[in-house]
Amino acid sequence: MMTMNGELVRRLQAMATDVDRVGAWSQAVIDALSEAGCWRWMIPTEFGGAGLEPVDLVVGYETVARGSMAASLIFTQHDAAADLIVRGDNAGLRERLCPKLAAGAYFLTVGISQLTTSRQGGEPAMKVDWDGMRARFDGDMPWSTAPAHCDAIVTGGVCADGQQLIACMPADSPGLTVAEPMALSGLQSTATTAVHCDGVEVGADWVIRGPVEKALGSRSTVRPLVVSASGIGLAGSMVDLLREIAPKRSAELRSFADDIIRHYERVRGEILDAAEMLGQGAGLESRKAEIRSTVNDLVVRLALVLMTLAKGTGYMTDHPAQRFVREAMFFLVWSAPETVQRMTLAKLLGEPETD
Ligand SMILES: Cc1cc2nc3c(=O)[nH]c(=O)nc-3n(C[C@H](O)[C@H](O)[C@H](O)COP(=O)(O)OP(=O)(O)OC[C@H]3O[C@@H](n4cnc5c(N)ncnc54)[C@H](O)[C@@H]3O)c2cc1C
Repeated sequence: MMTMNGELVRRLQAMATDVDRVGAWSQAVIDALSEAGCWRWMIPTEFGGAGLEPVDLVVGYETVARGSMAASLIFTQHDAAADLIVRGDNAGLRERLCPKLAAGAYFLTVGISQLTTSRQGGEPAMKVDWDGMRARFDGDMPWSTAPAHCDAIVTGGVCADGQQLIACMPADSPGLTVAEPMALSGLQSTATTAVHCDGVEVGADWVIRGPVEKALGSRSTVRPLVVSASGIGLAGSMVDLLREIAPKRSAELRSFADDIIRHYERVRGEILDAAEMLGQGAGLESRKAEIRSTVNDLVVRLALVLMTLAKGTGYMTDHPAQRFVREAMFFLVWSAPETVQRMTLAKLLGEPETD
């Protein structure tokens, strides 16, 4: 199993609080990822990538998040887009883009929440018209991380007959407008925002899959663990700080820190075991919401212990504790379908009382 790249963790950790306070895009974060070779990790070896096994990828995603949650969001969204291209139905697109992706010379993001967790139930947020040669997109990607800094955005829309189509959309396509970065309570430096498409056309050579009923199917086996791996990375970063702060507190307060650190170690072990099993071909479908909600519960509890032990000093904007609290809250909303939301709240608060 790959071990955590300590130098990458230290480099990202050293800038994380400043990057968060300034709230602007940071090339230094991207350079740290490039120099550590992160862009190669999930690209197959035939295209110059590292083709990492699921368990090594999980350690990789954990490493980046342990360094910086902003870096983690940017990196995982890039990889989610790359994953759809690698596993997509368009071999020509894969062959064209993968060598550039492996070289870190082509930067991607996703804007797919309109097909998963955002604005469900009403009119599709993004419509697509497919004539067999070209796909024409009209509507919104409600969320996309760093689209203004990307070469292309992997996005998807719904056709008039309800089928879905996903494509890689060059960021300079006529009709594509990236909104100003949203004002967020955390992760501001990721330049997350909405993207509007006004008749944006992409040719068949950019279409990844569709029209089909569910265009986001057949993603890599490690995908369901990526958010959990990032959460365990953030948790590790909180544990690093807790280990510095706790020895200065009373034995009674220290015991809360000791308990939560033991719980963190157990959960981390479970995630690595699950990743090992994925490598051996086991599915994760039945356990992914359980794992994810366990991680959500862990990061929220860790944030509470950390802020309590950091005291008033931890509430100051130049102290990492307050940043960790805001970043922990992100796990309550990041790619969280209702099952995950319910299971998370039940773990944190218990089941609601019914009459
Ligand atoms: C920091 C951050 C980064 C993200 N990055 C990405 C990314 O890179 N790619 C990606 O695909 N997803 C991304 N997401 C999306 C995320 O994974 C979830 O899809 C999202 O959090 C779901 O929340 P929602 O508010 O869109 O839910 P919704 O259910 O769509 O909205 C919740 C509420 O918002 C209001 N609302 C919804 N639609 C409208 C509307 N049309 N007009 C007015 N009000 C409306 C309603 O009150 C609704 O009840 C990101 C989210 C965050 C917070």
